[in-house]
Amino acid sequence: MKYTREKSGIAEEVVFMAGSTMNRQTAISPFPLFKLVTIIVLSLMLIALIFYTCDIAAISIEQRQLKHLTHDLANKIDTFLLDYFTDSATELAKSQVVIDACTNRTLPENEQLLSVLNASRTVLGVSFVYVMDSNGNVIGSSVDEKGFSLAGHNYAFRPYFTRSMAGAASQFPAIGITTMTKGVYFSAPIYADSSKLPCGALVIKTKPHSTDNFFHKIQGTIETLLLSPDGVVFSASRPDWIFSLATPITDEQAIRLKQSRQFMGQELPVLPFDISKTIIHYDDIRAVTASDSLQITGWRVVTIGHTSFPLVIALTISSLIVILLGLAVSNVVHAHREQTLQERIRLGMIHNTEVEAERRKTQQELEIIFSTILVGIALVRDNRLVQVNQRLCDMLGYSMHEIAKSNVRNFFISKEAFRQFIRNHYQTLPHSVVEQVECYLQKKDGTFIPCMISGKTLQPTDPSRGSVWVIEDLSKRKEIEKALDAAREQAESANVAKSAFLANMSHEIRTPMNGIIGLTKLVRQGVQKEDLQNHLDLILRAAHRLLSIINDILDFSKLEAGRYEVQCSSFDPRETMTEILTPFQVLADVKNIDLVWSVDTAVPGTIYTDQNKMMQIITNLVDNAIKFTNEGEVRIAVSFRKRYPPSSRYLFIEVGDTGIGIPREHYDSIFQAFSQVDSSFSRGTGGSGLGLSITKGLVHMLGGDLWFDSEQGRGSRFYFTLPISEPDEKIEGEFVTNKEREQDDVQQEKAGKQILVCEDEYINTVLICTLLEDAGYQVSVAANGFEAVRKWKKKKFNCIIMDIQMPGMDGFEAARRIRNMETDGGHTPIIAMTANATEADRKACLQAGMDYYLPKPIDGQEVLDLIQQCIKKP
Ligand code: ADP
Repeated sequence: MKYTREKSGIAEEVVFMAGSTMNRQTAISPFPLFKLVTIIVLSLMLIALIFYTCDIAAISIEQRQLKHLTHDLANKIDTFLLDYFTDSATELAKSQVVIDACTNRTLPENEQLLSVLNASRTVLGVSFVYVMDSNGNVIGSSVDEKGFSLAGHNYAFRPYFTRSMAGAASQFPAIGITTMTKGVYFSAPIYADSSKLPCGALVIKTKPHSTDNFFHKIQGTIETLLLSPDGVVFSASRPDWIFSLATPITDEQAIRLKQSRQFMGQELPVLPFDISKTIIHYDDIRAVTASDSLQITGWRVVTIGHTSFPLVIALTISSLIVILLGLAVSNVVHAHREQTLQERIRLGMIHNTEVEAERRKTQQELEIIFSTILVGIALVRDNRLVQVNQRLCDMLGYSMHEIAKSNVRNFFISKEAFRQFIRNHYQTLPHSVVEQVECYLQKKDGTFIPCMISGKTLQPTDPSRGSVWVIEDLSKRKEIEKALDAAREQAESANVAKSAFLANMSHEIRTPMNGIIGLTKLVRQGVQKEDLQNHLDLILRAAHRLLSIINDILDFSKLEAGRYEVQCSSFDPRETMTEILTPFQVLADVKNIDLVWSVDTAVPGTIYTDQNKMMQIITNLVDNAIKFTNEGEVRIAVSFRKRYPPSSRYLFIEVGDTGIGIPREHYDSIFQAFSQVDSSFSRGTGGSGLGLSITKGLVHMLGGDLWFDSEQGRGSRFYFTLPISEPDEKIEGEFVTNKEREQDDVQQEKAGKQILVCEDEYINTVLICTLLEDAGYQVSVAANGFEAVRKWKKKKFNCIIMDIQMPGMDGFEAARRIRNMETDGGHTPIIAMTANATEADRKACLQAGMDYYLPKPIDGQEVLDLIQQCIKKP
């Protein structure tokens, strides 16, 4: 990971490196979201406040302005309208013409009076100017444009009349009951010269729209209304509001209004807004109101000024706030970024320090490994050693200083060896790895050491960077290999010795057993006493058991040493099954259990496999089955199966029983040698714990496999496959025994026949001689090979029974000599008799010139049958 000093670069790089550190440390402050949200919310609230304040301010400014305006307007109305006409009425009431008419000094409606009234009307610009007497009758009136006069009418009920008669000038806006036009009535009392009481009233009625026109003159967005004390709009800048109610009135007020006939039956609808409110809405317009009272009691003038929301100002101020908000947000974000960056830089620094410490540690460890590793390591560049470890120096006997930069060629035992190494291995380096090449290297003292060399280029694309070599000193390994070879040889010879020992044991143990069994049988035949017979039977049974144990041990040893040989032959499986199982019937009967067997019809009539081993396997299994079954049955089934490839055929043989079964915990161990589920039980039934182990070994030898299933207390089932493929080669020298001889012929043939028994063991000699003499043969005895050859030379024998292992000359040599000395046509049959039971022994016997072969312990009948067969043959 590179490190740059450039300022911004450092930040970038550190940030990159800090990435992983950040994952495991959460020190970096989180994004200030709360702060931002608070700022934004406050800003929005401020904007809302500003909008509200602007509105309030705009309304209040508008209201203040409107108040001033209304006040001015009220003053103007008072001054220019009310005062003016009131004063005019008062002045006209003082006119002598008017007083005279009122005091009856002149006639009503005299010309002088009318001309004054008409002139006044014209000058004042009003509708009517008229004079009322003290009864309320109009005694003189100006005429309007149409020549209409109010003279003769009585208006005594009008308030302006009653007030004037009370001595006060008054103003009264109303609709005229005669003209039906509206106008403001200004009245003033008329006094006779000295009288203190009014004698009549002078009235001026303004033109119908004089106030409306006045209001119209007020420009702009302001609406103006003149309201009666009852809230009736008498004049307004908008004609549709005239004679409407500004505020709703009670029924009483309505009746009183009607009775006063002030507004002469007008409908008086209610205005669409409540004038008493400060802010009103009409025609989608928002407006503020202001009112001011006039001189006329209870009358007031009301103004309505439009006021719109000050959007521009509010937006301008809001924009400023938004800008400030933006600045504040960017400030917060920037501050956060800066803080984050600083934090990352700090973490990055920490990480860098850690990585650096880790790197140094790793480097130190590598250096330790490099210097202490038990193989030599060299870095080679341009055929020179650039760097080596101490181990390589020690191996080659150089110091570090001496070996540095030396040429690799110096370490090879010769130029040729170096060239060969370069050619075969060094040149392939760029494309491949040199792996475990054995060669010799030369040490400083000139001696050679065997080495194993492996190498690899640092970078295949750039050979100039050099290559790394690992050199292993093989001296010790070679020594160990040598020692191992010697040990193996020793072991092999020990194995050979073991085999020889086994063979000798076989001979040594079987031979006396042969004698014991044979002689016991002979003695048994001659003994009549029953208790003696029982004792001899016991001896026989014990001897057979001992022989079977010896056979088991020998079989197992042979299996272990791989010295068992497969001898295949063709035979009838059904006959063989009968041969195996018939003897077991006796045993089954004794135990009172059924022995049932079946051979499937599909099983061929002739099969080709090792008959003896097949018999041994089935015998072992059936023997166990009967041994471990106390009631029920033992069932044997043979079936035929084919499997892939089609040429491979095999028998499937099952041996089942209803016996004691095998506990689950012993499943794994029963095939192990010397293993028995219940040794106390086996002791009673016999057995060495080798049977199943031998059986399984035999099944495997024949190419099959053996399994079992069992349930404790309910029985077991052992089953195995037995391949019966076609024979590759036929085994020579099979024995054929013919037991179907006529007994008479036999006796005849035996008479006078000479048999030479060559045996060194005394008991065996006695056994065979007794057997043969009892059968009617003439028997001669030889104690070793020399004696046998000598006796054979002197006398013609019909058959020789020859033991193999004898002192002086053994059976092989004696047979060879006899065969060499035999002339054409003369051939004495020789039957080999030996405890060496292997196939090799059998072949050796045949090769030495012997005709037949009998393994010990011998079976009397078998010997006699064989001798008879020899004698009969020409
Ligand atoms: P052994 O010569 O003692 O019979 P094996 O190797 O033939 O030795 O058998 C090992 C043990 O397996 C026996 O001791 C017995 O406990 C058990 N075993 C073998 N066959 C059977 C069977 N058919 N039923 C019950 N147990 C059996």
